[in-house]
Order: sequence, then C-alpha cells, then structure tokens
Amino acid sequence: MAKIDQLKLAAATEKPTTVCPSGSGHTWVLVQAAGNKSLDDKIKDLKASPKAGTQFEGAAAEHNKNDGTLKDSKDLSDDSDQLSWECAFPGCNFKNNPREGDHVTTDGAGKRQAVEVKATTALDERSARQLGRNLQAASQGAVAGVTMKIPAGPQRSTLVSQIKQVAASLGQAVQIIRV
Ligand SMILES: [Zn+2]
Repeated sequence: MAKIDQLKLAAATEKPTTVCPSGSGHTWVLVQAAGNKSLDDKIKDLKASPKAGTQFEGAAAEHNKNDGTLKDSKDLSDDSDQLSWECAFPGCNFKNNPREGDHVTTDGAGKRQAVEVKATTALDERSARQLGRNLQAASQGAVAGVTMKIPAGPQRSTLVSQIKQVAASLGQAVQIIRV
C-alpha cells in the first residue's frame, strides 16, 4: 500500500465508534489544562526544551499569543499541564485514555480552532490518527476547525501535501499555517 494510502487509513480508522461497541453517543470533548502555570512561562519552557519539536511548539504558541488568539494558559499544553481531548462516552477507550492536544485558539468572533504543531518532514501514522481525531472533533462541533502549524521552508512540502490529502480523504479541510 502506498504511504499516503496508509496515512489516510490511519486517519479514518481513528473513530471512537470502532473502539466502543455501543456505537452511538461518542463525542470528543476538550478538557482544558489546569492553567496553574502562566501562559508566558509555558511558552518559555517549551522554547527552552532540548527537543526541536517541542521548541517549535513554543514558537507556534508564541505566534498565536502575538496575534491575540491565544491568551489563556488553559488553552496551551506543556509537559506539566496538558490540555486533552477525551470521548464523552462512558467506558470508551478515549474516555479512559484522553489524547493530548497542543493548543486551542480563539479568534475575535469567539471561534475556536484545535491547533496541532508538526516540525517533522513527513506525517507518520500516529500523527495521521491524531489529525483524524481532531477533524472528528471539528465535524462534531467541539471546535470550528483544525489548524496545523508547520515550519516554513521547502523541506516541509511532503508534510503539507500529506496533511491536505489525508484531510481531503475524510471530506474535510485543514488550515495550514507556516511559521
Ligand atoms: Zn468513544
């Protein structure tokens, strides 16, 4: 199977209804971080990480802070204080094992976007499933849409293309912002 087809399959199989036999009533719910560490401290700590991917999470969050769409520490994950997505359905795997999100933005009209940050050069299956979950949350109305923040530069063209193709295979679009 071609790589892009594997990624589309991974995104499409991340359905809460495939985990829980009850079938209906599965909905993604955003669980905000506790917010007991300031937004600025979270951004500083992310940017100071030895991991390049985590540094970029900090840079991407700072970008949203500067454009006024990220104001609340509860809307940003770091290692000590995560926001997560969980399924509202009792007993569902994703109720018991919530999945971490990177951050959530709010625009001037109050519309919320789930934001995931990727500094890799290609999408892996884990990330494709994550994208599938976020797009489900958007289609269910938990957020208005999904934004992926990706480093600028031509070395990310494969990643951008894969994200667009996976989202399109689910009948949805992702806003891609290069930072
Ligand atoms: Zn569920």
